[in-house]
Amino acid sequence: MTELTFADWQARASEIEIEGRAFINGQYTDALSGETRPTYNPATGEKLVDVASCGPEDADLAVKYARDAFESGVWADMAPSERKMVLVRWAELIELYAEELALLETLDVGKPISDTFNIDAPSAARTIRWSGEAIDKVYEQIAPTPAGTMGLITRLPLGVVAAIVPWNFPLSTTAWKIAPSLATGNSVIVKPASNTPLTAIRIAELASEAGLPDGVLQILPGPGGSLGQHLSTHMDIDGLTFTGSTPVGKMLMEYSGQSNLKRTFLELGGKSPNIVFADADLDKAANMAAMAVFFNGGQTCTAGTRLIVQDSVHDEFMAKVIECAKGWAPGNPLDPETVMGPMVDQGQYNTVAEYVEVGLGEGAELAYGGKRVLSDEGGYYHEPTIFTGVNNQMRIAQEEIFGPVMSVIKFSDAQEAVEIANDSIFGLAGAVWSRDINTAIKVAEKVRVGTMGVNNYFGGDITVPFGGFKQSGNGRDKSIHAFDDYTELKTTWIEFE
Ligand code: NAD
Repeated sequence: MTELTFADWQARASEIEIEGRAFINGQYTDALSGETRPTYNPATGEKLVDVASCGPEDADLAVKYARDAFESGVWADMAPSERKMVLVRWAELIELYAEELALLETLDVGKPISDTFNIDAPSAARTIRWSGEAIDKVYEQIAPTPAGTMGLITRLPLGVVAAIVPWNFPLSTTAWKIAPSLATGNSVIVKPASNTPLTAIRIAELASEAGLPDGVLQILPGPGGSLGQHLSTHMDIDGLTFTGSTPVGKMLMEYSGQSNLKRTFLELGGKSPNIVFADADLDKAANMAAMAVFFNGGQTCTAGTRLIVQDSVHDEFMAKVIECAKGWAPGNPLDPETVMGPMVDQGQYNTVAEYVEVGLGEGAELAYGGKRVLSDEGGYYHEPTIFTGVNNQMRIAQEEIFGPVMSVIKFSDAQEAVEIANDSIFGLAGAVWSRDINTAIKVAEKVRVGTMGVNNYFGGDITVPFGGFKQSGNGRDKSIHAFDDYTELKTTWIEFE
């Protein structure tokens, strides 16, 4: 827990030196074209720094270094226990520089400093340490084959992996990708979101300091359309791991088919159901229902944006949720008391504002919020917003808004709750609240999502896999299962006399 005050963080923000160059072959470097793109502080709209805007020629160079590093075996052939030591040292450095990383993330994304310091930075360190610690404890298999034969089943690194990540949790999502891919021996190229590249750029230097060989990790800031597409269609990249929107994820599957069938794993959008039965602990459920949507300003793939409430307690419960929503008033993200910051940029703010209009147009009832606030600060602040009287066919119940907007839908019995929950193209996360363990488990089993909470929301840690059903994706981040996405399964059949 940091003791730093709002004034301390503001002072540090005014002094911080920000690196905006790409990181290729162990060095910071400008884009070959010399082009840059500014990144802005969402809390003020002010420019932070000009960032290298890498293009296909930079990608080709990074791939060449990554391939050379992989083929040389400098990392891939290192004993797992040695790779572990490097990753653990890296995690320690991330912890050492947690204040700086948290500040960078807050300035770049607008996330509250109390979140970036207490959640994002420690979670990145824990993910990297956990993958490092795990990798020398994973055993291979020998198949049950006839005498005179031996079937070895082993896992080998894919080779060169590209990771394309979004702007909502830049540091922790990057860690979710690079920790298992590096632990399993791959060389990795990260393309951060073009509006939030700063922490990825910084931790690459810490990786080098920890002993990661040159060329094994490269960070290429740049636009999705050109740079991202070039990486996704590259013939010398073996694996692609992506977190982002469903439409872009669909394109990446096509790019894979059009190029070299690179292994492509996707973590995509969501419209997650949060189901509250009348017999739940309503105070706790209301508190968490607000958090499930308003945490990170609703810019969370797993946000519980469809609150599905049993009709007999709807009014009583919603009065509690609205009380809780008042605690999520937006504020300056450098203030340690702030729980919700601005939207990441003007475009995202506009999307949220448009969906509020859509909800009103569809006949939903605006029960709380709905407006821009703090506009004199120059940032993109939107109130926590609650629509009641929503039916599941409305656009505000079906489409991912990615902002602090809750859509509340009534149900009468468990079967109807499950039907509403599953009536979605997405299947990322969800939760059910009930004191009856039979109801809770029955519903949890039937809801088709990758992560389901029972009497909690946002539960889970690095030990359990994370990913989506349906159009929420096909890969799994976190836990030992993440290693599968970055390795090929190989059989070696041996015959002997
Ligand atoms: P996005 O899809 O617009 O961008 C994600 C990344 O893809 C960025 O780095 C972007 O530059 C790049 N990109 C864009 N077009 C590309 C193209 N044609 N080829 C290759 N790369 C391209 O998503 P976003 O707006 O940055 O992030 C929000 C989305 O991410 C939401 O849909 C959210 O649900 C999703 N998300 C999912 C998870 C998860 O784990 N399931 C986690 C966080 C965010």
